[in-house]
Amino acid sequence: MKIQEADAKKLLLAQGLPVPPWEVARSPAEARAAASRLLHGAGHARQVVIKAQVLVGGRGKAGGVRLAATDDEAEHVADDILGMSIKGIAVRKVLVAPAADIVRELYLAAVLDRAARRILLMGSAEGGVEIEQVAATNPDAIVRIHADPLLGLRDWQARELAFRLGLNAHLKATVGIAKGLVRTMLANDADLVEINPLAIVREGAGAGEERLVCLDAKITLDDSALFRHQDHEALRDPDEEAPADAEARRHDISFIHLDGTIGCMVNGAGLAMTTMDLVKRAGGEPANFLDIGGGAKAERVAAAMRLILAEPRVEAILVNIFGGITRGDEVALGLIEARKQQSRDVPMVVRIVGTNAAEAARLLEEAHFETAASLDEAAEKAVAAARAQGQAA
Ligand code: GDP
Ligand code: MN
Repeated sequence: MKIQEADAKKLLLAQGLPVPPWEVARSPAEARAAASRLLHGAGHARQVVIKAQVLVGGRGKAGGVRLAATDDEAEHVADDILGMSIKGIAVRKVLVAPAADIVRELYLAAVLDRAARRILLMGSAEGGVEIEQVAATNPDAIVRIHADPLLGLRDWQARELAFRLGLNAHLKATVGIAKGLVRTMLANDADLVEINPLAIVREGAGAGEERLVCLDAKITLDDSALFRHQDHEALRDPDEEAPADAEARRHDISFIHLDGTIGCMVNGAGLAMTTMDLVKRAGGEPANFLDIGGGAKAERVAAAMRLILAEPRVEAILVNIFGGITRGDEVALGLIEARKQQSRDVPMVVRIVGTNAAEAARLLEEAHFETAASLDEAAEKAVAAARAQGQAA
């Protein structure tokens, strides 16, 4: 689960990381009031920065990060940004903060390195830009350091990171931030904690002190660990969750979106992987897979079918169910029910084996469903059906 910058910054603050103050505004008037407090309050900011709160990167490039020097300007800029859509997502909130006087922008992130089974810190002296771009054009510019699962990130490792990023003048701060990122990962079961830019900023008037601060924050939480953090549920942004994903979650279906044309309904993650492999081997590409889990009832099956059909890419559907706790006849009833409500005509191939498979076969035959005995056959039929459908269109 991705969370908004403002929420990510709260989690960073909770670990003692240096984050400049901010407010969130939902209207130009609220943004004006927030800017007014920052410009005329105790902090006497010379300018404010107004940033779109949407769960995509590259807001700056898209025009979603702008500065304002007066209340009027802040209201006007907020009005502009609140009317934008960035990468297809409507902006509903903005963050308002005192504008930083940036000396240098760097990149620092903690990610879960699954292959190494460790938290990996990645730093780059080239901040502000997208790290993928640095990785592609100048991979040596990325410093990588693994934290030990038992000992954590040790001070000498954090100091080495600081030296390699040219942060010698900010040694203590860098060590504090690097260790803080690892703590943020662990405390929240995060997959990613990314600070881009981590910035050296000038504080106070004229040639004031320089300080290292987290100007932007991006955190992705591990969905499978959300149950351990009751308070994280409140960070889910309903404005930005696609309706289909919310619907899938309500029905306890895991819904993975892919790029192909064949919708796959399965039960169990292992079967999902196998099904995708076989679809690919038969020359097709999965459009998605929906794992209806163990013991699914007809109602969940029907919901899964509605979700698959709602994806315009889908040109054929492959249902592959291994009945264990799940009863084949329940699945068949769900499919029959779903087809009654079906909004568009998409060919479907069904393979159900295991518990109550014979009853399922009888029900499906009566309802004139296309069935397959083996998984290979099912995948081939689905791929052929998708091709025919694609050519007809
Ligand atoms: P992103 O584009 O979505 O990653 O949004 P960021 O918060 O990272 O902002 C993008 C860029 O805007 C940064 O790399 C900075 O160059 C600039 N920026 C962000 N905040 C400030 C600020 O407070 N002051 C100044 N001068 N520039 C800022
Ligand atoms: Mn950024």
